[in-house]
Amino acid sequence: MVTNDDGVDSPGLMALAAALRSVGSVTVLAPDHNWSAAGHNKTMHKPLRVASVRLADGTPALASSGTPSDCVALAVLGVVEAPIDLVVSGINVGANLGQDITYSGTVAGAIEATISGLPALAVSLNSYDPTADFGPAARVAAAITAALPGAGMAPGVLLNVNVPALPAGELAGTCWTKLGRRVYRDRLLRREDPLGRPYYWIGGDPPGGEPDPDTDIWAVEHGMVSITPIALDMTAHDCLEAVQPWQELLPERVAAALRSAR
Ligand code: MN
Repeated sequence: MVTNDDGVDSPGLMALAAALRSVGSVTVLAPDHNWSAAGHNKTMHKPLRVASVRLADGTPALASSGTPSDCVALAVLGVVEAPIDLVVSGINVGANLGQDITYSGTVAGAIEATISGLPALAVSLNSYDPTADFGPAARVAAAITAALPGAGMAPGVLLNVNVPALPAGELAGTCWTKLGRRVYRDRLLRREDPLGRPYYWIGGDPPGGEPDPDTDIWAVEHGMVSITPIALDMTAHDCLEAVQPWQELLPERVAAALRSAR
């Protein structure tokens, strides 16, 4: 199953679906509008609509009023009758590197699949140009997807794939990476509406990043396809060891605070 966060009309989605047809049968269920940076957003208080549409190349698809993760949930829970064995989300217009994954609807679609127990990958192209060539990234996604079922992926782990916006012959290889650190350049813009009331816009230049070796940011900067395994378990396991000295102190203090409140 293919979904995305840029909406069902995105050329990245169409290129992905076309390339994946060389791997297996493909069902498309994607949002009917752009949900970029919507994060992992679940619709709970309004109905979800699903319509039959066609992609620009004629591919039959389903478009939902819901978010990327809603699309995956709808498909897995029965809107798509064919059994779903894995989910690919993308190809996003713009990289999802470092902390971007916490904002990303593309990654959220893959996370929703992982929560459902399905293998999943998110695929993003390092270009904000919707007319970019998604062909190389689509072939990369197909190759990784074909390898996924036998790859022995641990449950609760998805793959976040970022592809440099380069011609296929100029890609410098593929490497496993860890998440890097994005540097955001957000600025607060304060303007006034026609009634004189202030409004705010969080804007600024596209994010940069610290190019530490072995990170996704480093790999894409060096022309390489980056594959980052992402665990849904966000526990800071190292921290659990670091807080050993607190092990007795903190529960005692919490208990004392509760006693004093009685
Ligand atoms: Mn997007």
